[in-house]
Amino acid sequence: MRVLNYIGGKLVEPVSKKYLPNHQPSTGMVYGEVPDSNNEDLELALISAKSAQKDWENTPAEQKFKVLNAIADLIDVHREKFALAESKDQGKPVWLARNEMIRSAQNFRFFATTAMQFSSESHAMENKAINYTLRQSIGVVGCISPWNLPLYLFSWKIAPALAAGNAVIAKPSEFTPVTAFLLSEICIEAGLPAGVLNIVHGLGPKVGQSMVEHPGIKAISFTGGTTTGKHLAATAAPMFKKLSLELGGKNPNIIFADADINKAIKTTVNASFMNQGEICLCGSRLLVHASIYEEVKAKLVDEVLKLKIGDPSNDENRIGAIVSEPHYKKVLSYLEIAKNEGGVFLTGGEAVFPEGFEKGWYIAPTIIEGLPLQCRTNQEEIFGPVISIMKFETDQEALELANGTEYGLAATVWTSNLNRAHTLAAALDFGIVWVNCWLLRDLRTPFGGKKSSGVGREGGLEAMRFFTEPKNVCIAF
Ligand code: NDP
Repeated sequence: MRVLNYIGGKLVEPVSKKYLPNHQPSTGMVYGEVPDSNNEDLELALISAKSAQKDWENTPAEQKFKVLNAIADLIDVHREKFALAESKDQGKPVWLARNEMIRSAQNFRFFATTAMQFSSESHAMENKAINYTLRQSIGVVGCISPWNLPLYLFSWKIAPALAAGNAVIAKPSEFTPVTAFLLSEICIEAGLPAGVLNIVHGLGPKVGQSMVEHPGIKAISFTGGTTTGKHLAATAAPMFKKLSLELGGKNPNIIFADADINKAIKTTVNASFMNQGEICLCGSRLLVHASIYEEVKAKLVDEVLKLKIGDPSNDENRIGAIVSEPHYKKVLSYLEIAKNEGGVFLTGGEAVFPEGFEKGWYIAPTIIEGLPLQCRTNQEEIFGPVISIMKFETDQEALELANGTEYGLAATVWTSNLNRAHTLAAALDFGIVWVNCWLLRDLRTPFGGKKSSGVGREGGLEAMRFFTEPKNVCIAF
């Protein structure tokens, strides 16, 4: 399959006519190609975005709503085609891809309604003046997204950027470009005006970097790794670009003795290994109270050994393939690191070669114990099907272990004690705290991390605020 750029409302080849190979993770084989776009493609996208932006900004909210809603409806209509494509391109099980396509449509539908609801605040000064906040579109904005939840995260950025009246230049990861390409076809069908959304495919350090450097792009919303985020911030800061950075995590999943243990374990299997552990919100550090440690460990190992690994298109498989060969090698290298650090492997710890898919990139779900907080396994984001399990005695110790990394994205707490839940929720140094659940998402809530997990929040009105400039207008009486 040949992916094309989407510029000026048309599907176009890259100017250089150069393409990169696109691999199918489940087989390790090349099955398509993706534009290796460069500055020339970016300039074309900018010309088209600039010429479309003002008209789009001035388009009545109801019309913006209709178009964004039409995109959502078309994703729903083509859900199965999108899900199969996402699974093939990313390596995730197709049942999971189906859920993510539902959420991708919801992203457009949610921000379609937000376009209608978003309004300015006003502040009256007694007998003196009235202030109102004019929230204006930024102009042309850039959205850069990663490979783990390709359309889900791509649409999470594009939808609010468009709802706020901006023209968008977006770059999906070159590892997983296909659903973004299918989305461009849908945008044409839905009647999105030409140039309002431009999708430029290619390499992050090449065309992605050019987007961040380009003075014509006034804001960047980025989701990806912390190292890339640091580099982006350093590039964008001297230009005073508006930046939203959603970065990595090393999330604690804390089970107290008073928790509903069976429910906690059931969810922990997902929180640890869903999407091969390639979700920034996965709980990669499992912290368990000493009094239930052996019970939790035994039950969890039991459940994890039942997980079937293999062909993502087979609905019976719970674990699919790792997204790319470099990432597969990176995760395997962390298994070596954990061994050298003295970790004890309770499950997994190795690559898997399912029959008929021997050349694909599969890793067994891995649980490691016996490692201290201060080691690479417990400090660095592995972003694969690998968790580390540790025990604690007191609430204070649990809190110190949980907060003891450079990351601050999401924490999960399992307890039936309301006081403990509230106290920990306030003390955990994370952007998101789930109590007795994981990945339960309300799209109105602020989403993002603290510390090295990012800067800024997306979601709901936070995203609309990011993608607009507030202007104070003060009218004297
Ligand atoms: P990367 O940081 O490698 O890449 C993310 C995106 O940025 C890709 O499109 C990439 O392109 C692009 N990119 C890379 N280098 C540059 C550059 N110099 N300038 C501009 N763009 C660039 O992350 P991954 O794709 O490996 O994604 C995994 C990471 O994303 C994990 O750390 C994970 O935790 C994080 N993540 C965070 C989430 C959050 O909400 N906090 C949610 C999901 C993931 P290319 O693919 O071509 O390199």
